[in-house]
Amino acid sequence: MVKICCIGAGYVGGPTMAVIALKCPSIEVAVVDISQHRINAWNSDQLPIYEPGLDDVVKRCRGRNLFFSVDVEKHVSEADIVFVSVNTPTKTRGLGAGKAADLTYWESAARMIADVSKSNKIVVEKSTVPVKTAEAIEKILTHNSKGIKFQILSNPEFLAEGTAISDLFNPDRVLIGGRETPEGQEAIKALKDVYAHWVPEDRILTTNLWSAELSKLAANAFLAQRISSVNAMSALCEATGADVTEVSYAVGKDTRIGPKFLNASVGFGGSCFQKDILNLVYICECNGLPDVAEYWKQVIKINDYQKNRFVNRVVSSMFNTVSNKKIAILGFAFKKDTGDTRETPAIDVCKGLLGDKALLSIYDPQVTIDQIQRDLTMNKFDWDHPLHLQPMSPTTVKQVSVVWDAYEAAKDAHGLCILTEWDEFKTLDYKRIYESMQKPAFVFDGRNVVNADQLREIGFIVYSIGKPLDA
Ligand code: NAD
Repeated sequence: MVKICCIGAGYVGGPTMAVIALKCPSIEVAVVDISQHRINAWNSDQLPIYEPGLDDVVKRCRGRNLFFSVDVEKHVSEADIVFVSVNTPTKTRGLGAGKAADLTYWESAARMIADVSKSNKIVVEKSTVPVKTAEAIEKILTHNSKGIKFQILSNPEFLAEGTAISDLFNPDRVLIGGRETPEGQEAIKALKDVYAHWVPEDRILTTNLWSAELSKLAANAFLAQRISSVNAMSALCEATGADVTEVSYAVGKDTRIGPKFLNASVGFGGSCFQKDILNLVYICECNGLPDVAEYWKQVIKINDYQKNRFVNRVVSSMFNTVSNKKIAILGFAFKKDTGDTRETPAIDVCKGLLGDKALLSIYDPQVTIDQIQRDLTMNKFDWDHPLHLQPMSPTTVKQVSVVWDAYEAAKDAHGLCILTEWDEFKTLDYKRIYESMQKPAFVFDGRNVVNADQLREIGFIVYSIGKPLDA
């Protein structure tokens, strides 16, 4: 029986391995992590992450051929294929701080693999890493390895949070990069055989190692760039009377462009887009390509601009001050169908409003009080462009309440900001909400999910991103 071990039981390691276990009953899959807390959750009915369909997949194979454990060394030493899916955040100190990927977790995983291995292994980069990381990993593995052979593959993950299970069941592509040597090609075949249990052959792409590593960074940069492009256009729409939904529809009808990822919003978030673009910027700079670095930096600059623009719109619409005014925040996760708040635009929007002394009442169906408290008090790394909002002091949290119902959040509020596109926000009883709010009652729709005309008929003053403004 082939044995797989995945180091890192996070948003990627957990779902990807659960799907491999489900689709490949003949393979034993162990997901290991240094966090006892996370592993306990994976072994309970309260999984550590919210992802539609994940519960069902885990229940069907946990204890059969899917195991979650903190016994990292045992499972790594027994595995034929070791995936490494540890976090690769942006470095906060030292060389490359604020841009380069922090590979501390990766390096420690690689050293441990080298130490505990007693047989040849395929080591798979599942984390998103800078191009050329495999070269460094090879050095660490072979230096410590007592003659044991390792083949490194790059197999970046393209799932999107919120749709992870359907993305994994039906991926647009699976990308596998490896060495062009016979051993490298043999390793690629072994990993292809795993995915071939359910992924059609023409969707499994094989490349050299560096193309696979760089493709993941490139894909995230292109996706984020589309969002920043449409968001930049939304500012121009507001200035001219054009409607960004109509513009996006017209632009997306061009088959060379296509309709996806063209929704204007308060900005992109999540743990990957900004981090991966910063990483790309750093790699360009290190390779003597400052103009290319500058090009990609603008994607983040526009994203920060869009978040600030939204805050400024809220404050200026509410007679230039939100001091001591209650504002309901609907949605805190960085997108719908996830409880993940990493780099969510809600953090910067809330901090901006708190900076103007607003009182916030926050509701999100999947985000906990602890997460919100941590996110609003955490010091954020100050990158070298002027648009970053200042970190808040812990006392600011007293200005914030977290409630478990949108109606409760809106009660007595002067304004309502929709920051996540949860489906339930489309069908709220806005008449009831209007009646419970202070007047004039404002809605600032950061995701363009509500029907602005219907809300205006009720009596709201409505701001939607990239749409003609109320008189
Ligand atoms: P995560 O923080 O949710 O999970 C990483 C896990 O690795 C943590 O539970 C941590 O405890 C564990 N870990 C760290 N060092 C370890 C070690 N030495 N031994 C055992 N466990 C260790 O991160 P994530 O969101 O799953 O992302 C993982 C990687 O995948 C990152 O490189 C990310 O960029 C990439 N990625 C993420 C997504 C996404 O949507 N979240 C999508 C594609 C790719």
